[in-house]
Amino acid sequence: MADQNQDKHLGMHRSIRRRDFLNGVAIGVGSTMAGGFLPGLEWIAEGAEQFAQDKPGYYPPALTGMRGSHDGSFEAAHTARDGNFWNSAGSRIDTGETYDLVIVGGGISGLAAAYFHRKQNPSARILILDNHDDFGGHAKRNEFHVGGRMVLANGGTVSIESPFPYSAEARGLLTELGIEPAKFEKKYDDSTVYKGLKSAYFFDKETFGIDRLVIGGPAPFGRQGTVSWSDFLAKTPLSETVQKDIARLQNAKVDYLPGLSSDEKKEKLSRMSYKDFLLKLVKVDPGVTPFYQTRTHGLFGVGIDGVAALDCWGLHFPGFQGMNLASGSYRRMGFTAMGEATPQKEPYHFHFPDGNASIARALVRALIPDAATGHTAEDIVTAKFDYARLDRRDSPVRIRLSSTAVRARHTGDPASAKEVEITYAREKKTYNVRAKSAVLACWNMMIPYLCPELPDAQKEALRYGAKVPLVYSVVAVKNWKAFHSLGIQRVSCPGMYHTGVGLDQAVSIGDYKCSQTPDEPVLLRMTRTPCMPGLSERDQHRVGRGELLSTPFETFERNIRDQLSRILSAGGFDPARDIEAITINRWPHGYAYEYNPLWDPDWPVGQRPCDIARKRFGRIAIANSDAAAAAYTDQAIDQAYRAVRELA
Ligand SMILES: Cc1cc2nc3c(=O)[nH]c(=O)nc-3n(C[C@H](O)[C@H](O)[C@H](O)COP(=O)(O)OP(=O)(O)OC[C@H]3O[C@@H](n4cnc5c(N)ncnc54)[C@H](O)[C@@H]3O)c2cc1C
Repeated sequence: MADQNQDKHLGMHRSIRRRDFLNGVAIGVGSTMAGGFLPGLEWIAEGAEQFAQDKPGYYPPALTGMRGSHDGSFEAAHTARDGNFWNSAGSRIDTGETYDLVIVGGGISGLAAAYFHRKQNPSARILILDNHDDFGGHAKRNEFHVGGRMVLANGGTVSIESPFPYSAEARGLLTELGIEPAKFEKKYDDSTVYKGLKSAYFFDKETFGIDRLVIGGPAPFGRQGTVSWSDFLAKTPLSETVQKDIARLQNAKVDYLPGLSSDEKKEKLSRMSYKDFLLKLVKVDPGVTPFYQTRTHGLFGVGIDGVAALDCWGLHFPGFQGMNLASGSYRRMGFTAMGEATPQKEPYHFHFPDGNASIARALVRALIPDAATGHTAEDIVTAKFDYARLDRRDSPVRIRLSSTAVRARHTGDPASAKEVEITYAREKKTYNVRAKSAVLACWNMMIPYLCPELPDAQKEALRYGAKVPLVYSVVAVKNWKAFHSLGIQRVSCPGMYHTGVGLDQAVSIGDYKCSQTPDEPVLLRMTRTPCMPGLSERDQHRVGRGELLSTPFETFERNIRDQLSRILSAGGFDPARDIEAITINRWPHGYAYEYNPLWDPDWPVGQRPCDIARKRFGRIAIANSDAAAAAYTDQAIDQAYRAVRELA
C-alpha cells in the first residue's frame, strides 16, 4: 500500500506527460510538427479503411508513458502463442494486395532487408509489417518537448558499436546512408558541457544499511578513476572486511589458478560464474558481491551469478591482473564488447541523440523518400516524418504498423509454391496479403507460430533462445542544476530498482543541440534489468519478462521519483517540481539471446540453435539478430543481407 504523504512529496499526484495513447488519437506535443507538411488524405480510396497511422498528427516518437513493447503491441501474438487466436479471429479480410516481398518485422533487420532487396530489384514492391505503433523495432526514438526545446533519447538500441568488426555489407549500408561512425564520434561529441562532473556510487539502505552518495568513484572496467580504491572505499558504508577484500581484488596481482596454462585457466574460468570466482578463488567476504552483482546487467541481462568469469575478464573486471591470461579470445567465450576477445574491431562507438533510431529513420527515408524531409545523416536527427505516407497504395515500399503477423504459409507445397500468403491482425481484424517471398525479420520464438509446417527440429531451434528483458527509463527534467551542484554526471546504484542513473549523452549534430547549461532541460537515463539470480540465464530472462509485463507504469514512476529524490535531493532536486515527463521503454523481449557457456552446450560448428533456426524454408527466409544469436545492429544487418540473398 503506497504511503500517501510520501507519494505527495514525490509528486505522484502531478500531472506529467506519461499517459498519452495513440489509437484513441490523444497524441502528445510534437504531433503537429510531425511533418511540417500536412499529411494528405486524398490518396485514400473511397470506402478504404483508415488506420491510426494514416490519420493526421500520428507521431509515436512523441508519446510518453509505457513505451517499448507498449500495450496493444503484443496481445495478438500472445493469443497466437496460447492457441486461441483463430477461435476469436473472425473471418479474414483479403486485401487483394500482392507484393514481391513481404517482410515481417520493421526493426533494423527488416528495414535493411527491404533496402538490400530493392538494391537487387529496384522495381520490387515491398510490404513491411510490424506489431508496434512505430517502426524501428528496438531502434526506437523518444522525443520530448520541454521548456520549448526538443530533447531526444534512444528508447532501445543506443550506439553503433559491436564486438565484431562491421562486415562489408553492414559497413557499406551505413556508408550509403551517409553514416560515418568514426568521424561522427569525434565531430559531434559535445561532452565538454559536462566538464568537471564525476561519476558516483549510491549505496542504498535496503542493500548496504544506509543511504549514501559517494562522489568521485574509481571507474569500473579497468579505466582510470578519479580517486584511488582505498580513498573511495573509506567513504563507503561497506564494512572494513569488505573494503579490504575489494581493495585486494582490485589491486593484488595474484594467480588464483597457479600451475595451469593460459588456455587451461580460460577453460576453467569459462565454467564458473564471476560470483563463484570471487567467492571460491579470490575468497572474498560474501559482503563483497552486492557491490559487483549488477555490474553485468547492461550487457548480459543477468548479474555476476549468471556470467562466466572468463567473460568478465574480457570486460576488464578485477581479479585477473595477476593471472597471466594470454590476450585473445577463447572458444567458450561470449562477446565482450570492450574486451580482448576482439582486438581487430573497428574503434568506434557512435551515439546519435536518438540512438540507432537514426539508422532506422535513415533507412525508412531511403525506402520511402517522400515520408521524410532532408537527405543527410546529420539532418536525419531533426528530419520531419509524415507517418501518413508510410503505407500509401502508390508507394513501392509500404510500412504497415500495429500489424501482427500470425501466419506465413506457402500457397501449396513449399518446394514448388509460387506464393506465400501472410495473415496479420490489425485493430481487432484479420487480413491477408500475398507475396512472391517473405523475410521473417521478427523474433525467432514467434516463427513456429507463424509457420507451423516448419520441420520440428527447426521449430525447436527457433524456440531455444530467451530474449533478454530490459528497461530503459527516460525522465525529462526541467534542468540539471542538482547534478551540477553535486558535481556528478552518472551514478551507479548497485542495489536499487534502477541500477544506474545519468545525464543523457551529450551529442550535438546537425540542427540538434544537446542541453548546454545546467539551467536547460535534459533527459535522465535510468536502466533496470529484471532477473532472478540463482536460476539459469534463460530462466532468469523468463522470470524477468513475467515481472515486466505485470508491472504497472505507476510502480516504475514511484520508484523513479523515490530513487532520484534519495540520490539528488542534497543538490536541490525536487521530484514533485522538477520532473516533466517519464517514458518507460519496456523490452520484455530485448537483446537476442547469446549463448552462455555456464549452461549451454558446446555445439559443433554450424549446429548452434541459431544456425538451424535460420534455414530458408521454400520462399520464406529468416533474418533478425536472433538469427545470429548476437544482439548487435551489424548482426541484424548481416542477417538481413543473408536472408535476401537466400531468396535471390
Ligand atoms: C534496450 C536495447 C539496447 C540495445 N543496444 C544496442 C546497441 O547499443 N548497439 C547495438 O548494436 N545493438 C543494440 N541492441 C541490440 C538490437 O536489438 C539490435 O541492434 C537491432 O536493433 C535488432 O534489430 P532487429 O531488426 O534484428 O530486431 P528488432 O529491433 O527486435 O525488430 C524486430 C521487429 O519485429 C517485430 N515483430 C516480432 N514479431 C512480429 C510479428 N509476428 N508481426 C509483426 N512484427 C513482429 C518486433 O516487434 C520488432 O519490432 C540493443 C537492444 C535492446 C533491446
